[in-house]
Amino acid sequence: MEKIKMLIDGEWVGSKEAEWIPVFNPSTGEQIAEIVEATYEQVDRAVKAATVAFGSKEWKAFKPYERGQLLMEMANYIRENATTFSELECLDVGKPISQARIDVEMAARYFEFYAGASDKLMGDSIPIEDGLLNVTVFEPMGVTAHVIPWNYPLQITSRSVAAAIATGNAVIVKSAEDTPMTTNLLAQWFSESKLPKGIFQHITGTGANVGSFLVSHDGVDQITFTGSVQTGISVMKAAAEKVTPVTLELGGKSPNIVFQDANLTRALKGVVNSIIQNAGQTCSAGSRLLVHSSIKEQFVNMVVDRFKSLRVGPGIDNPDIGPILNKRQHDKILSYLELGKKEGKILTGGNSVIVEGVGGFYIEPTIIDGLDPNSTLAQDEIFGPVLSVFSFDTIDEAIELANNTEYGLVTGIWSTNIDVAHYTASRIKAGQVFINSYGAGGGIQMPFGGYKKSGIGREKGFEALRNYVQIKNIAVKYGSS
Ligand code: NAD
Repeated sequence: MEKIKMLIDGEWVGSKEAEWIPVFNPSTGEQIAEIVEATYEQVDRAVKAATVAFGSKEWKAFKPYERGQLLMEMANYIRENATTFSELECLDVGKPISQARIDVEMAARYFEFYAGASDKLMGDSIPIEDGLLNVTVFEPMGVTAHVIPWNYPLQITSRSVAAAIATGNAVIVKSAEDTPMTTNLLAQWFSESKLPKGIFQHITGTGANVGSFLVSHDGVDQITFTGSVQTGISVMKAAAEKVTPVTLELGGKSPNIVFQDANLTRALKGVVNSIIQNAGQTCSAGSRLLVHSSIKEQFVNMVVDRFKSLRVGPGIDNPDIGPILNKRQHDKILSYLELGKKEGKILTGGNSVIVEGVGGFYIEPTIIDGLDPNSTLAQDEIFGPVLSVFSFDTIDEAIELANNTEYGLVTGIWSTNIDVAHYTASRIKAGQVFINSYGAGGGIQMPFGGYKKSGIGREKGFEALRNYVQIKNIAVKYGSS
């Protein structure tokens, strides 16, 4: 049984026997590793080590382009070890191996992108008056805390860590208790790299203890949290006590809007992929289908037929839909499906799946029609392969339905009419809108984040670098007057 140790101040730190917690393979339900439940003292040690490392001469001497070179080495390492990374991610999260391979390439792309950006974030000179030079400079925040969810551990760790190191911060990652494996592999590489000890640290354990210790710590200068709305609110409250800036990447209930003039073959592919990816356990899952009433029957039948053909199974067999993370999540989805049977009409799916001789936790891809748009099922993030269907007659009805949740992460618009597509996009309350596509190939360069309860701030792209810097304005008076 692999015992995953934490990387604190350049050392591999374990714990007493009683404080190890198990990690399971969602595809089989078998235990695959153990992690340390960090103590408050260990979190405190990590924050103090990060503070020392951040202020060290060694780190200050690391030039921005050298930080970029190091991040580029990491990108190369990830690509050279893509098989190991993808097999571990598949084992740990249960996702189909082909999706895990995409995650690995995305992780490499994050390191590559922010490697290139590390010496390109430049301030301004501001014209005020003769004899006054006024400039803005960007300075790193200091110690940045990164709290990671279980659904895309490698991608999400890579996107914020790469941006934070590119801008010169000292990073502490708290991986999700269910999925620590690939972050541990990143930690192994960092521990042997030229990076001064304490600039990258990895701590493990439960959110209620370890996550909470970290985000409440006085020594943390910035927090990037990715996870549920409920936890995001707790993190923000803890941060508010110390006025620590937060970037929150939270949940979603994203719609795909299919207009009567859409290319339905193209829309079918986008709509289905957006909800089955990672078995629907994706913040940006397209979990609501809004379809024009004139094509509802035709298009919904196409989606139902496609859903019926989807293969469900263990990640390593590369099915269309892998397992749900654990029994708790699986049972939560099932209770939503029971509600769906009462409040709506199940068009396909609706049950748990037993994969013979394998174990694990599986759910049939499910489509529910006939729900009230204000019902629990139409509003809650289910986080499973469950799609609810609604119809509309006018463009304004479509927009109202699309905006009718507390979330605002992503929206897909399917139309060949440029007026309809752009008018709709302009009125959608979401951080990202795709027209005639969904997901757009990973979108490393595209700012990503939410309106409303989907979050605060943006990750990805050049925009994310600003999460990790302070702006300092310097005014220099010169001349004799
Ligand atoms: P979660 O909120 O349960 O946990 C996320 C992380 O927070 C874990 O590491 C957990 O240990 C930690 N945590 C829990 N309680 C904490 C506390 N009180 N203080 C500090 N840390 C704490 O979320 P999850 O179930 O791991 O992930 C699923 C959620 O994440 C979904 O809502 C999904 O939409 C969202 N998500 C959002 C994005 C995005 O980019 N917007 C990406 C992936 C997942």
